[in-house]
Amino acid sequence: MKKILIVGAGISGATVANKLANAGKEVLVIDEKTHIGGNCYDLRQDGIMVHQYGAHIFHTSIKEVYEFLSKFTTFTNYEHQVKAVINGKEVPVPFNFNSIDILFEPDRAKELKDKLLAHYKLDSKVPILELQNAEDKELQFLAEFVYENLFLHYTLKQWGLRPDELDKSVSARVPVYVGTDDRYFPWDAYQGIPNEGYTKMMENMFSHKNIEIKLNTSFSSLDANDFDQIIYTGTIDGFFNYKLGELPYRSESFDNVTIDKAFFQSNSVINYPNEHEYTRIIEHKYFLNDNTDKTIISYEYPEAYEQGKNDPYYPIATPETTKLYQSYLELAKEFPKIKFIGRLGDYKYYDMDKAVNRALEVALQIQQKG
Ligand code: UDP
Repeated sequence: MKKILIVGAGISGATVANKLANAGKEVLVIDEKTHIGGNCYDLRQDGIMVHQYGAHIFHTSIKEVYEFLSKFTTFTNYEHQVKAVINGKEVPVPFNFNSIDILFEPDRAKELKDKLLAHYKLDSKVPILELQNAEDKELQFLAEFVYENLFLHYTLKQWGLRPDELDKSVSARVPVYVGTDDRYFPWDAYQGIPNEGYTKMMENMFSHKNIEIKLNTSFSSLDANDFDQIIYTGTIDGFFNYKLGELPYRSESFDNVTIDKAFFQSNSVINYPNEHEYTRIIEHKYFLNDNTDKTIISYEYPEAYEQGKNDPYYPIATPETTKLYQSYLELAKEFPKIKFIGRLGDYKYYDMDKAVNRALEVALQIQQKG
């Protein structure tokens, strides 16, 4: 049997571990944390499933990913919606026709919606940075309104950068939506939350006689020569000891508060683009419809990642960081025994489904190599 080391017990590591164990490989999974699940880790507190590292909503268009995860969990039919507070009103995000109706007088709202429909198809997604280039004066007005009230200050808080300083794909994740669908991911066929939580789902993925898990264990405490193949889901620059310079990451801190009433807010996630230091408030009980007298909310504060102080959550996609990452990729070619995957290994702003998809691909490559 070939011995495989997987560094990181998050969703990428769990996917590769499960696939390779089923293919007959002997797998050791290590993680520096004291729990499995990576940043998808959730835990029931006072009867409420609390997402310990921020809201995780599973959504995908990739059937293979949905079917793979469905072997380890059932999903609720939860369909995510987000509201943002603009001018004191809660409006749907992605910004859509209903958001316009809430924020503008009926005649003006009609003009703006008609303009959008004259330029874009119903139910299409228009990235804000693209809408800003519209030649039509009314669309320019709308673009500036949405940019200023929804994107600019939220993005400054979240990344410490303006939307146009980041890769376009970041703000394009939350486009302006030409239609009335209030869901956050109207374009994804499969959505839901694992009925018994993400941690349980991943416990099931790791539950195989060929998989051993060691928590509280760092990569540096092992001898890489003991393994035929290493799958590394930590930061790629950290792996190389920052030899070419540090890649930047964004981190988060969460202020969790238990409140002695059934509900705190009208929705699972409410964004505050313009007020407060936090970006959003999560009310966890909405995800699994937990029936409790109390509620638990989390204020989410973005912050810079600093080694040894907090955890890296998001790679920061800019032209400079993409170039530096490419240099690390070149360096990685000299180490064919090691495969880098996941948000931190690939330095990509993956959603859970994209992380799983990438891990499935890599597991297949390893299996084909024999
Ligand atoms: N964004 C924004 N205002 C919002 C929601 C999102 O400016 O109300 C921008 C912001 O730059 C954010 C990005 O869109 O980082 C992606 O948002 P998403 O909700 O996908 O972020 P995540 O849930 O992954 O933190």
